[in-house]
Amino acid sequence: MRILFLFLDGVGLGTDDPQINPLVRARMPRLRTLLGGRPLIAASAPLETERATLLSLDASLGVDGLPQSATGQAVLLTGINIPKEIGYHYGPKPNPEVAAYLNGNTLFSRVTRAGKTAALLNAYPPRYFQGIDSGKRLYSSVPLAVTNAGLSLFTKDDLYAGRALSADFTALGWQSFLGFSDTPTLTPEAAGRKTAELASQYDFSFFEYWASDYAGHKQNMSAACELLETFDGVLGDLVDAWDDSRGLILLTSDHGNLEDLSTRRHTDAQVPGLLIGAPSARREFVHGLKDLTGIAPAIQRLILPQ
Ligand SMILES: [Zn+2]
Repeated sequence: MRILFLFLDGVGLGTDDPQINPLVRARMPRLRTLLGGRPLIAASAPLETERATLLSLDASLGVDGLPQSATGQAVLLTGINIPKEIGYHYGPKPNPEVAAYLNGNTLFSRVTRAGKTAALLNAYPPRYFQGIDSGKRLYSSVPLAVTNAGLSLFTKDDLYAGRALSADFTALGWQSFLGFSDTPTLTPEAAGRKTAELASQYDFSFFEYWASDYAGHKQNMSAACELLETFDGVLGDLVDAWDDSRGLILLTSDHGNLEDLSTRRHTDAQVPGLLIGAPSARREFVHGLKDLTGIAPAIQRLILPQ
């Protein structure tokens, strides 16, 4: 069984209010179809349809304060209730106390140690690597876990060669923000098919979509809707191209944010645990799953059966 982990930063299950929740306001026909016509909100979970299962997962983990990215992502990658162990939520980048959990014991390490293949599908631009090498930039939890597992991050060359995905799926940001006018771009639908193709090459693949959290902090409704409508195009063709007999797609998050644009801060909302694939594999995955600590063990059960 293979797993594609679509990590959407800062996406909680909110209310059915188009004034504050872009997940209700945006046109997302492909996601709605997966959810039997319902929007991705708290009232829709739990839900099981022909192709998908939606759970509502606790991201606060019994610790006061709003959940943050470094600890939330580290929980997803280890299955350990790190906020509880250290006594606080922390982010966006891991401090030494959080980073200590991301060495040797993450999904990336466990999967590769067992002789299976794993990859972070995001491509990083040259200035990202320059920032890391010069010490001006810290790894966030996900690339830290990847590099600590002995895996390489994908580069501009990998993106151009079609071996990796841009952080915005379409690579339009490489042209407009990063200034690489020759970057090959994809429509959202083509990016969805490319995601399926790349995920089929690994036992465990991960894609980190941070634009959702960024949009939540910006509180810009039209930008948030535009982003979600692009994502919906990606998801639709990804799901169409996905072979359910070979594995599962998991979409989840580290904490709420985007679902409530009335605040620029994170929220304490539950986050979605959305699974797409064969009903039997979905049921095995969600068995006993209640909060973010259950994700890593469930992935391990499927990729590395005893
Ligand atoms: Zn954030």
